[in-house]
Amino acid sequence: MDDYDKLLDQAWSKLPEKLKSTDRFEMPAVDSLIEGKTTIIRNLNEISSAFDRKPAHIVRFLSKELAVPAIVDGNRAIIQRRVKSRLLQQKIQGFADEYVLCHECKRPDTKITELSGQKIIKCTACGGWWPFRQIK
Ligand SMILES: [Zn+2]
Repeated sequence: MDDYDKLLDQAWSKLPEKLKSTDRFEMPAVDSLIEGKTTIIRNLNEISSAFDRKPAHIVRFLSKELAVPAIVDGNRAIIQRRVKSRLLQQKIQGFADEYVLCHECKRPDTKITELSGQKIIKCTACGGWWPFRQIK
């Protein structure tokens, strides 16, 4: 091994594990059921921890996207409309695209933070960031 290779090797071994990983992010599957006129997501906590985002944030997003009231109820989300699971899955994907997966490198290693008083989402893997879109 020449010096250059050795240097490369050292640099590589210093990289955080997450940067080395080439695993794709595994999107959590929505576990929902329709009850009367409402739809219940049964694994809200699971989705919330996979995304590392607050349950209330996810539910507010769904409420806005589906244009109906939705609430957090323990581990569940209750949506005041019948929603097919396929559509819910699409909306959850939409949430991930906007608020979780890095807009530059597509990794899920992002966090909500602030930059000059503005809420942003920052990627801890590549350093990229984008403005946090408020849900009105
Ligand atoms: Zn990134």
